[in-house]
Amino acid sequence: MDVRPFWLAGRPATGDGELTVTNPVDDRVVGRASVPTAEQVEQAVAAADAVQKEAAALPVHVRAEALAHVSRRLAERADEIARLISAENGKPIFWARAEVARAVATFRFAAEETRRSGAEVQRLDTEPAAAGRIAYVTRVPHGPVLAITPFNFPLNLVAHKVAPAIAVGAPVIVKPAPATPLSALLLGEILAETGLPEGMFSVLPVPNDRAAALVEDPRLPVVSFTGSAPVGYAIGDRVPRKHVTLELGGNAAAIVLADADLDFAAARIALFSNYQAGQSCIAVQRVIVEDAVYDAFVERLIPAVNALVVGDPADEKTQVGPLVSTAAAERVEQWVAEAVEGGAKVLTGGTRDGATYAPTVLADAPADAKVCREEVFGPVMVLQRVAGVDEAFAAANDSAYGLQAGVFTRSLDIAFRANRELQVGGVIIGDVPSYRADQMPYGGIKDSGVGREGLRSAMADYTYDKVMVLTGL
Ligand code: NAD
Repeated sequence: MDVRPFWLAGRPATGDGELTVTNPVDDRVVGRASVPTAEQVEQAVAAADAVQKEAAALPVHVRAEALAHVSRRLAERADEIARLISAENGKPIFWARAEVARAVATFRFAAEETRRSGAEVQRLDTEPAAAGRIAYVTRVPHGPVLAITPFNFPLNLVAHKVAPAIAVGAPVIVKPAPATPLSALLLGEILAETGLPEGMFSVLPVPNDRAAALVEDPRLPVVSFTGSAPVGYAIGDRVPRKHVTLELGGNAAAIVLADADLDFAAARIALFSNYQAGQSCIAVQRVIVEDAVYDAFVERLIPAVNALVVGDPADEKTQVGPLVSTAAAERVEQWVAEAVEGGAKVLTGGTRDGATYAPTVLADAPADAKVCREEVFGPVMVLQRVAGVDEAFAAANDSAYGLQAGVFTRSLDIAFRANRELQVGGVIIGDVPSYRADQMPYGGIKDSGVGREGLRSAMADYTYDKVMVLTGL
């Protein structure tokens, strides 16, 4: 099997080691990635540093055309890329195709946003002392971006960092997750077709212990990290003077109120607790249900969960595949066992077959169980019965995390109240917390991170306002 080269300053290169990528279903080797040497990492950083002035001065039509090209090529190669994502990550081909479609849109939105970005002129003569002056305000990139990405969306979460970097004219160095580097390397292949200046992008699958050199390098003033909270905060703490965006974990709540459409809520919660085997930062984990409809909801939920098609990720009909590794599934198994010891009841699921964990619904889990308090990152949901809206919102907020929440209600009053009171970065009314449109601001509060993604928000995070005051007008 060929070893995929990495991308060093826009060109393919090979280093001194190899990363073997395996499929979680059967551990077969699906690819190998070359690993750069410390010297090659240094070359990539030096190239990004050297090109930053040229990158910031790139005409908008050049950035927009490069981004549009990537979007088109991802669409043209969608089937091949979806198969690669599914092979390296184990996610069902259905969800892998959805991920490619999202990445197509992410690059398209970036092409549109870069065209909309521009300078602003402010009058300053609102005060007598500033009479005769105006301010010309532009957004300037902080400098090259270090993008560190997780395994669960190996293409679209790379897209969410690369596309805004190109849109603002900043070089970018991607450090993909070691379990899933192949999709990012394929994206590098497409980026290399754009004719962007040399040094504008690198994709370096370095092991975690070699990533410190990148994190700490002062020539990379922006670190955009998506991954788990402990790793993210440790990185942020190491570089307090950098512009750090942290997109971290969650244990998202879906709230089902008495006025909800219970059939719809049950179907959506069943699917989005288990999509990608629960390995999404906004997968439904905590299901908070108003007492008046609790029994009727559970009656609908369990058949909906049991109807999910669990199986081979390569099968077009599969909805739930394996976790990223057997070790990950074993951890989920232990967490469920701990909850059961504490009194939780397994309403369905609770079994493991290798890396595949059955879609699982728990009731009466003790409030301090890991399945309630931490991020399960597996196909497990915990039901919680509440008396009414006040208790529902308090239960949802009783979490260290705050990424997104979903509220199934038909009341506009409750929708606005949820928006005011729920301690999260995004409130989804009428659907699961797992809903994300790629152009909208996306990110968390509390332990779910700092900063925002979504094209416009990421472009803002990667840049600062620079003002020039013109005098004597
Ligand atoms: P992880 O934290 O283990 O790894 C994330 C990335 O950090 C990987 O590229 C990894 O190699 C790298 N990394 C690990 N140690 C490092 C170090 N010392 N220095 C530099 N880089 C290092 O996360 P994961 O298991 O790949 O992904 C799952 C996590 O990601 C979950 O917690 C999930 O909620 C979170 N996530 C968040 C979002 C979001 O947008 N908020 C989206 C997807 C996933």
